[in-house]
Amino acid sequence: MELNERQEKILTIVKENGPITGEQIAEQLSLTRATLRPDLAILTMSGFLEARPRVGYFYVENAQKRVLNDELKKMTVKEFQSIPVVVKESSSVYDAIVTMFLEDVGTLFVVRENSILTGVLSRKDLLRASMGNQDLSQVPVNVIMTRMPNITMCGQDDALIEVANTLIQKQIDGLPVVKQVSVNGEEVFEVTGRMTKTNITKAFVSLAQENE
Ligand code: ADP
Repeated sequence: MELNERQEKILTIVKENGPITGEQIAEQLSLTRATLRPDLAILTMSGFLEARPRVGYFYVENAQKRVLNDELKKMTVKEFQSIPVVVKESSSVYDAIVTMFLEDVGTLFVVRENSILTGVLSRKDLLRASMGNQDLSQVPVNVIMTRMPNITMCGQDDALIEVANTLIQKQIDGLPVVKQVSVNGEEVFEVTGRMTKTNITKAFVSLAQENE
Protein backbone atom coordinates (compact mmCIF):
# COMPACT_ATOMS: atom_id res chain seq x y z
CA MET A 1 0.00 0.00 0.00
CA GLU A 2 1.29 3.44 -1.01
CA LEU A 3 0.92 6.28 1.50
CA ASN A 4 0.49 9.89 0.39
CA GLU A 5 2.78 12.69 1.49
CA ARG A 6 0.51 13.85 4.29
CA GLN A 7 0.10 10.32 5.65
CA GLU A 8 3.89 9.91 5.67
CA LYS A 9 4.18 13.18 7.62
CA ILE A 10 1.60 12.00 10.14
CA LEU A 11 3.54 8.76 10.59
CA THR A 12 6.74 10.67 11.27
CA ILE A 13 5.01 12.90 13.82
CA VAL A 14 3.47 9.95 15.64
CA LYS A 15 6.71 7.98 15.51
CA GLU A 16 8.56 10.87 17.19
CA ASN A 17 5.86 12.14 19.55
CA GLY A 18 3.40 9.31 20.16
CA PRO A 19 1.16 8.83 22.01
CA ILE A 20 -0.28 11.98 20.52
CA THR A 21 -3.86 13.16 19.96
CA GLY A 22 -5.40 13.94 16.57
CA GLU A 23 -5.71 17.53 17.68
CA GLN A 24 -1.97 17.78 18.38
CA ILE A 25 -1.07 16.17 15.06
CA ALA A 26 -3.32 18.66 13.27
CA GLU A 27 -1.65 21.51 15.10
CA GLN A 28 1.83 20.40 14.02
CA LEU A 29 0.67 20.27 10.40
CA SER A 30 -1.27 23.53 10.66
CA LEU A 31 -4.41 21.75 9.55
CA THR A 32 -7.77 21.12 11.16
CA ARG A 33 -8.61 17.86 12.92
CA ALA A 34 -11.45 17.34 10.40
CA THR A 35 -9.05 17.54 7.45
CA LEU A 36 -6.87 14.84 8.97
CA ARG A 37 -9.71 12.48 9.82
CA PRO A 38 -9.64 10.43 6.57
CA ASP A 39 -5.83 10.05 6.73
CA LEU A 40 -5.94 8.94 10.34
CA ALA A 41 -8.69 6.48 9.50
CA ILE A 42 -6.62 4.98 6.68
CA LEU A 43 -3.51 4.75 8.83
CA THR A 44 -5.32 3.01 11.67
CA MET A 45 -7.29 0.68 9.41
CA SER A 46 -4.17 -0.45 7.61
CA GLY A 47 -2.35 -1.06 10.88
CA PHE A 48 0.29 1.70 10.75
CA LEU A 49 -1.19 3.47 13.74
CA GLU A 50 -3.10 2.33 16.73
CA ALA A 51 -5.65 4.63 18.36
CA ARG A 52 -6.41 4.37 22.08
CA PRO A 53 -9.33 6.34 23.49
CA ARG A 54 -8.29 9.24 25.71
CA VAL A 55 -4.59 8.54 25.04
CA GLY A 56 -4.02 9.12 21.35
CA TYR A 57 -2.22 7.58 18.44
CA PHE A 58 0.71 5.13 18.65
CA TYR A 59 3.05 4.10 15.88
CA VAL A 60 2.97 0.36 15.15
CA GLU A 61 6.42 -1.06 14.41
CA ASN A 62 6.90 -2.98 11.16
CA ALA A 63 3.38 -2.26 9.95
CA GLN A 64 4.42 -2.12 6.30
CA LYS A 65 6.17 -5.44 6.63
CA ARG A 66 3.08 -6.89 8.27
CA VAL A 67 0.83 -5.69 5.45
CA LEU A 68 3.12 -7.35 2.89
CA ASN A 69 3.24 -10.48 5.00
CA ASP A 70 -0.55 -10.64 5.15
CA GLU A 71 -0.78 -10.16 1.37
CA LEU A 72 1.76 -12.93 0.85
CA LYS A 73 -0.04 -15.38 3.09
CA LYS A 74 -3.30 -14.78 1.23
CA MET A 75 -1.80 -15.89 -2.10
CA THR A 76 -2.64 -19.49 -2.90
CA VAL A 77 -1.53 -22.09 -5.43
CA LYS A 78 -4.93 -21.95 -7.13
CA GLU A 79 -4.41 -18.37 -8.34
CA PHE A 80 -0.98 -18.92 -9.84
CA GLN A 81 -0.75 -22.56 -10.95
CA SER A 82 -0.21 -23.70 -14.55
CA ILE A 83 -1.67 -26.55 -16.54
CA PRO A 84 0.22 -29.80 -15.83
CA VAL A 85 2.13 -31.50 -18.63
CA VAL A 86 2.02 -35.25 -18.22
CA VAL A 87 3.31 -38.41 -19.90
CA LYS A 88 2.24 -42.01 -19.41
CA GLU A 89 4.33 -44.51 -17.47
CA SER A 90 4.79 -46.52 -20.65
CA SER A 91 6.08 -43.50 -22.63
CA SER A 92 9.68 -43.71 -23.75
CA VAL A 93 12.41 -41.37 -22.59
CA TYR A 94 12.61 -40.19 -26.21
CA ASP A 95 8.91 -39.22 -26.17
CA ALA A 96 9.33 -37.46 -22.84
CA ILE A 97 12.19 -35.36 -24.25
CA VAL A 98 10.06 -34.42 -27.26
CA THR A 99 7.14 -33.51 -24.96
CA MET A 100 9.39 -31.37 -22.78
CA PHE A 101 10.53 -29.38 -25.84
CA LEU A 102 7.11 -29.10 -27.47
CA GLU A 103 5.37 -28.03 -24.27
CA ASP A 104 8.26 -25.82 -23.19
CA VAL A 105 8.36 -27.00 -19.55
CA GLY A 106 11.14 -28.11 -17.26
CA THR A 107 9.28 -30.75 -15.29
CA LEU A 108 6.98 -33.52 -16.53
CA PHE A 109 4.63 -35.56 -14.39
CA VAL A 110 4.18 -39.25 -15.03
CA VAL A 111 0.67 -40.58 -14.61
CA ARG A 112 -1.32 -43.78 -14.89
CA GLU A 113 -5.01 -43.92 -15.86
CA ASN A 114 -7.27 -41.10 -14.55
CA SER A 115 -4.29 -38.73 -14.16
CA ILE A 116 -3.05 -40.57 -11.05
CA LEU A 117 0.46 -39.38 -10.21
CA THR A 118 3.22 -42.00 -10.28
CA GLY A 119 6.39 -40.03 -11.03
CA VAL A 120 8.27 -36.84 -11.85
CA LEU A 121 10.82 -36.23 -14.61
CA SER A 122 13.17 -33.28 -14.55
CA ARG A 123 15.46 -32.02 -17.28
CA LYS A 124 18.47 -33.62 -15.66
CA ASP A 125 16.70 -36.97 -15.25
CA LEU A 126 16.29 -37.01 -19.05
CA LEU A 127 19.82 -35.76 -19.70
CA ARG A 128 21.25 -38.43 -17.42
CA ALA A 129 19.30 -41.13 -19.23
CA SER A 130 20.65 -39.80 -22.53
CA MET A 131 24.28 -40.14 -21.51
CA GLY A 132 24.51 -43.90 -22.08
CA ASN A 133 24.33 -45.65 -25.39
CA GLN A 134 20.87 -47.11 -25.02
CA ASP A 135 18.10 -46.55 -27.54
CA LEU A 136 15.97 -43.89 -25.80
CA SER A 137 12.85 -44.90 -27.66
CA GLN A 138 13.12 -48.31 -25.97
CA VAL A 139 13.56 -47.08 -22.37
CA PRO A 140 10.27 -46.41 -20.54
CA VAL A 141 10.20 -43.31 -18.34
CA ASN A 142 9.20 -45.31 -15.28
CA VAL A 143 12.72 -46.73 -14.96
CA ILE A 144 14.32 -43.28 -14.64
CA MET A 145 11.64 -41.13 -12.96
CA THR A 146 11.51 -40.11 -9.32
CA ARG A 147 8.57 -42.16 -8.11
CA MET A 148 5.84 -42.17 -5.46
CA PRO A 149 5.95 -42.01 -2.48
CA ASN A 150 9.04 -39.81 -2.83
CA ILE A 151 7.29 -37.00 -4.64
CA THR A 152 6.77 -33.63 -3.05
CA MET A 153 3.31 -32.31 -3.88
CA CYS A 154 1.01 -29.44 -2.99
CA GLY A 155 -2.72 -28.76 -2.94
CA GLN A 156 -4.51 -25.93 -4.69
CA ASP A 157 -5.42 -24.24 -1.42
CA ASP A 158 -1.87 -24.26 -0.07
CA ALA A 159 -0.21 -20.90 0.55
CA LEU A 160 2.20 -19.90 -2.19
CA ILE A 161 4.82 -18.89 0.34
CA GLU A 162 4.83 -22.44 1.76
CA VAL A 163 5.33 -23.87 -1.73
CA ALA A 164 8.16 -21.43 -2.40
CA ASN A 165 9.80 -22.56 0.81
CA THR A 166 9.42 -26.22 -0.15
CA LEU A 167 11.01 -25.62 -3.58
CA ILE A 168 14.01 -24.08 -1.85
CA GLN A 169 14.29 -26.74 0.88
CA LYS A 170 13.99 -29.66 -1.54
CA GLN A 171 16.07 -27.99 -4.27
CA ILE A 172 13.57 -28.75 -7.00
CA ASP A 173 12.07 -26.64 -9.79
CA GLY A 174 8.43 -27.62 -9.56
CA LEU A 175 5.67 -29.51 -7.82
CA PRO A 176 2.55 -31.27 -8.99
CA VAL A 177 -0.67 -29.76 -7.67
CA VAL A 178 -2.77 -32.74 -6.61
CA LYS A 179 -6.12 -33.78 -5.23
CA GLN A 180 -6.32 -36.85 -3.01
CA VAL A 181 -8.81 -39.42 -4.33
CA SER A 182 -9.76 -42.95 -3.45
CA VAL A 183 -9.49 -45.56 -6.22
CA ASN A 184 -10.62 -49.07 -5.30
CA GLY A 185 -9.95 -48.31 -1.65
CA GLU A 186 -6.45 -47.02 -2.40
CA GLU A 187 -5.63 -43.39 -1.51
CA VAL A 188 -3.91 -41.85 -4.54
CA PHE A 189 -3.25 -38.41 -5.96
CA GLU A 190 -4.78 -36.99 -9.10
CA VAL A 191 -2.66 -34.35 -10.86
CA THR A 192 -4.61 -31.13 -11.37
CA GLY A 193 -1.89 -28.53 -11.87
CA ARG A 194 1.73 -27.53 -11.87
CA MET A 195 3.55 -25.08 -9.60
CA THR A 196 7.03 -23.98 -10.59
CA LYS A 197 9.62 -21.36 -9.79
CA THR A 198 8.23 -19.41 -12.76
CA ASN A 199 4.79 -19.30 -11.15
CA ILE A 200 6.35 -18.03 -7.94
CA THR A 201 8.22 -15.35 -9.89
CA LYS A 202 4.96 -14.25 -11.55
CA ALA A 203 3.26 -14.06 -8.17
CA PHE A 204 6.16 -11.96 -6.89
CA VAL A 205 5.74 -9.52 -9.78
CA SER A 206 1.96 -9.35 -9.30
CA LEU A 207 2.52 -8.26 -5.72
CA ALA A 208 4.39 -5.21 -6.97
CA GLN A 209 1.67 -4.40 -9.52
CA GLU A 210 -1.05 -4.61 -6.86
CA ASN A 211 0.75 -1.95 -4.89
CA GLU A 212 1.27 0.48 -7.75
P1 ADP B 1 16.88 -30.54 -12.55
O1 ADP B 1 17.07 -32.02 -12.55
O2 ADP B 1 16.67 -29.98 -13.92
O3 ADP B 1 17.88 -29.81 -11.71
P2 ADP B 1 14.98 -30.44 -10.36
O4 ADP B 1 15.92 -29.70 -9.45
O5 ADP B 1 13.55 -30.07 -10.36
O6 ADP B 1 15.44 -30.29 -11.85
O7 ADP B 1 15.07 -31.99 -10.03
C1 ADP B 1 16.10 -32.59 -9.30
C2 ADP B 1 15.71 -34.03 -8.98
O8 ADP B 1 14.57 -34.03 -8.10
C3 ADP B 1 15.32 -34.88 -10.19
O9 ADP B 1 15.86 -36.17 -10.06
C4 ADP B 1 13.79 -34.93 -10.14
O10 ADP B 1 13.27 -36.16 -10.61
C5 ADP B 1 13.50 -34.76 -8.67
N1 ADP B 1 12.26 -33.99 -8.47
C6 ADP B 1 11.82 -32.92 -9.17
N2 ADP B 1 10.63 -32.49 -8.71
C7 ADP B 1 10.30 -33.29 -7.68
C8 ADP B 1 9.20 -33.37 -6.78
N3 ADP B 1 8.17 -32.52 -6.83
N4 ADP B 1 9.21 -34.35 -5.83
C9 ADP B 1 10.24 -35.21 -5.75
N5 ADP B 1 11.30 -35.20 -6.56
C10 ADP B 1 11.34 -34.26 -7.52
